[in-house]
Amino acid sequence: MSAPWDVAIIGGGIVGTATGMELARGGRASVVVLEAEEALAAHQTGHNSGVIHSGLYYKPGSLKARNCVEGREAMYRFCEAHQIPHERCGKLVVATTPEHLAPLDELERRGRANGLEGMRRLEAGDLREYEPEVAGIAGLHVPHTGIVDFAAVTEAFARLVRESGGDVRTSSRVLRVERRPDGVVLETARGAVEARALINCAGLQSDRVARMCGVDPGVRIVPFRGEYYELAPARQHLVRNLIYPVPDPRFPFLGVHFTRMIHGGVEAGPNAVLAFRREGYTRTSFSPRDALDLFAFPGFWRMSAKYWRMGVGEMHRSFSKRAFVAALRELLPALGDDDVHPSGAGVRAQALDPKGVLLDDFHIVEAERMIHVLNAPSPAATASISIGREIAAMAARAFALK
Ligand SMILES: Cc1cc2nc3c(=O)[nH]c(=O)nc-3n(C[C@H](O)[C@H](O)[C@H](O)COP(=O)(O)OP(=O)(O)OC[C@H]3O[C@@H](n4cnc5c(N)ncnc54)[C@H](O)[C@@H]3O)c2cc1C
Repeated sequence: MSAPWDVAIIGGGIVGTATGMELARGGRASVVVLEAEEALAAHQTGHNSGVIHSGLYYKPGSLKARNCVEGREAMYRFCEAHQIPHERCGKLVVATTPEHLAPLDELERRGRANGLEGMRRLEAGDLREYEPEVAGIAGLHVPHTGIVDFAAVTEAFARLVRESGGDVRTSSRVLRVERRPDGVVLETARGAVEARALINCAGLQSDRVARMCGVDPGVRIVPFRGEYYELAPARQHLVRNLIYPVPDPRFPFLGVHFTRMIHGGVEAGPNAVLAFRREGYTRTSFSPRDALDLFAFPGFWRMSAKYWRMGVGEMHRSFSKRAFVAALRELLPALGDDDVHPSGAGVRAQALDPKGVLLDDFHIVEAERMIHVLNAPSPAATASISIGREIAAMAARAFALK
């Protein structure tokens, strides 16, 4: 076996490659990134809305708020520097009922607390200045939001890892981890890899990878599938940029919205349906192991008791296109049932604790010679450069790197 790497990173999504880039930069550490699939960004990173979030939603002082605001600007700078197509197009959050007004006030307050300058509170009559087809009673325009292709960003991060002397290996699923007094040996689908330390950025599998490393993650990953529709080309003019509802503050997801995509076209979605397979991209996806894993976790039943009503609504919108479009029509009354057709889906890795609480913030846990990223939901793609820096700083301290 060749000389051990300083750090092995498990997971070639945007968080793993960003962490690798930050660690490998300037020769701070020798780094190998190990990705299970044939290509990078094969799961959450390659199946998301492609939105560079502003930092509007997150509790001031949280890891999400700090990393999203810093990471957003770092992402814009990175895309400029590496000629990755992106656009700072702004977005509109639309209140459609009086019940939305108090949560909209709270969003505005959080946005200001998170340092978002240039937001504009709108009356009903102002909404059409930004989105002529939208209907609502009030809104918030956020100019910092943008769009990008996060898979392309991930490829650029990986290129920089390689240019700094590191390696990024696909088709290299980590199957077993052996702890030794001076490091770890990772048994992969392509042979053994020796390293002094490891970082787990395995997304939908991160709790299992932690257990594989002999660490109790304390949480279970619950997969929530998000299904998208795409606007028919002839109806794309209905949406200029990004149109979002006011999110339900009791739920960690943003509600179905319209997103103009960087490579053209407009997507609508995603919903949030409990999935019984971690990498389950269709309604019929089912894995007995994944389902049993959920049912055996006490937090699952506590979560179900709390959220079953929302779950039924999401399920209904999953099976009924008419119900999905009805939710979208609240924002865009001109939208007809035939104006959209199904497009892809993504699966969110959402950590759940034993009390049934869906973890809101990023959750990163240290163990001996290990760092485990156990909750990196949205806006982790936006925030990836900042999260990568934070993890690299933790690693430098914990693993005594340069
Ligand atoms: C539907 C949806 C919409 C979203 N929209 C946005 C958005 O608009 N903006 C935003 O900022 N964020 C968004 N997000 C969130 C964002 O996509 C994620 O937070 C981010 O991609 C997480 O990156 P990651 O690297 O942690 O996970 P992933 O991209 O899932 O990467 C984890 C990788 O680990 C690999 N892996 C797993 N097990 C192993 C193993 N044993 N060995 C080796 N490799 C392994 C997997 O194959 C995978 O490639 C969205 C997410 C979803 C699902």
